Amino acid sequence: MTVSFTTTGNRGLDLEEKLIFEQDKAGRTAVDLPDVPAHDNRLGVAKRKKAMGLPGLSEPQVVRHYVRMSRNNYAIDAGIYPLGSCTMKHNPRLNEKMARTPGLADLHPLQPQSSVQGALALMDELAHWLMTLTGMPAVALSPAAGAHGELTGLMTIRAALEARGDARKVVLVAESAHGTNPASAHMCGYEVESVPGTEGGRVDLAALKKRLGPDVAAFMITNPNTCGLFEDDIVAISAAVHDAGGFVYCDGANFNAIVGRVRPGDLGVDAMHLNLHKTFSTPHGGGGPGAGPVVLSKALAAFAPLPFVVKDGDGFRLVETEEQSGAQPYGRMKGFNGQFGVFVRALSYMMSMGSDGLRQASADAVLNANYLRERLQNALSLSYPGPCMHEVLFDDRFLAETGVTTLDFAKAMIDEGVHPMTMYFPLIVHGAFLIEPTETESRASLDQLADLMLGLVAKAKAKEVEFFKASPTLTPRRRLDETRAARSPVLRWSPPAPKLAAE
Ligand SMILES: *Cc1c(COP(=O)(O)O)cnc(C)c1O
Repeated sequence: MTVSFTTTGNRGLDLEEKLIFEQDKAGRTAVDLPDVPAHDNRLGVAKRKKAMGLPGLSEPQVVRHYVRMSRNNYAIDAGIYPLGSCTMKHNPRLNEKMARTPGLADLHPLQPQSSVQGALALMDELAHWLMTLTGMPAVALSPAAGAHGELTGLMTIRAALEARGDARKVVLVAESAHGTNPASAHMCGYEVESVPGTEGGRVDLAALKKRLGPDVAAFMITNPNTCGLFEDDIVAISAAVHDAGGFVYCDGANFNAIVGRVRPGDLGVDAMHLNLHKTFSTPHGGGGPGAGPVVLSKALAAFAPLPFVVKDGDGFRLVETEEQSGAQPYGRMKGFNGQFGVFVRALSYMMSMGSDGLRQASADAVLNANYLRERLQNALSLSYPGPCMHEVLFDDRFLAETGVTTLDFAKAMIDEGVHPMTMYFPLIVHGAFLIEPTETESRASLDQLADLMLGLVAKAKAKEVEFFKASPTLTPRRRLDETRAARSPVLRWSPPAPKLAAE
């Protein structure tokens, strides 16, 4: 006879966890604060009138909550993470050690500048590396991420155009661009128009030339692009945009493929963000942290946003106002000076690699992607002929008539403990598989990924549809309702009934 019992909901190491608000018990706390007598109102009018609505948990509950949550995450520290365009590479622990140095970790942005000269020197050194690697004369360090950098670059371009009395209305965006490009241009108030690609997966120069004119403020291009291809016509593209009085914005998220080999400044680029958290190895994923400095051409340098660091005698000074700048900054993008902890990690990475090491890394990133292309191209459908740059693009033609989709294939990979590649992006091919292994994967780990994918292709070709449709079977949740998640997202937990002031 089987005895039933009250189960925990856990399965082995797979631990169920409620939302933190669902564990709330009024009055429970993880800290002991002294009782403050009612008459002791030192906060005056600033005294809180209503309860904050924070959940009440004990310290062990808080610790378990976050440890349990963290175990539901896949991470680059757990295994291969070949998410195309995201450059999920190993983050050397040395960078973390540097970022935790008390003199760097415990700073406050409102400290007197005389007490943070080392931090300002670090920002100046980082700026120097970024300008040298890109061949550009100026950099705005403050943007918080790549997309924020796009907005910064476009606002700088707008300031430059307005200064010459030539406000323009349209931003052209390459068809293969990351979704953030048209979104940033739209947010900046521009009308966005798409420029088609060629059969070969690159920008159609003739179509671009045809559309350029006195209403076009900028053309946004990604190079290498999101098909993993270098835009061979980039010099001619830049010249055409400049001839029409516009600026070239390059999305630099894929800089990992060309560091130490090509300087975007030599290609005619006017503004480009660098995702320090991708190319320069700082941990990312799950929304942060990151940093998206924007390098700028001579034509844009004077319009760079505040603040920035300048040399001042033997030391450094933060330029925080237009008067101090002697230039025409259009404003600022952040309350303070940027994502300082990410600056430390990125500079630590660059200095420990050295320029030769960075050059080697871009070569290895491209080699690894091409190794996977070679191993997979006869089984999956390669979208554009190789060689590729740092990522390789396949589409779903090989799944035709199998009943299996790109999504099903990715779900089966999850059961094998592998983070799937980027799917269904770029949009210009059907059912995309965009694979970016990065330079820090070993040949053994690339082979394991390739063997797994080849095995799954064989299973799909054998029409084992049920296997794919049932995947994943080993995750805490199986298939989520993606349509409902997109159409009616629940972005915030709401209490069952409003909590009243605890008075
Ligand atoms: C990651 C990425 C972005 C956006 O960068 P965030 O730092 O995530 O804002 C833009 N373009 C491309 C091609 C990217 O890969």
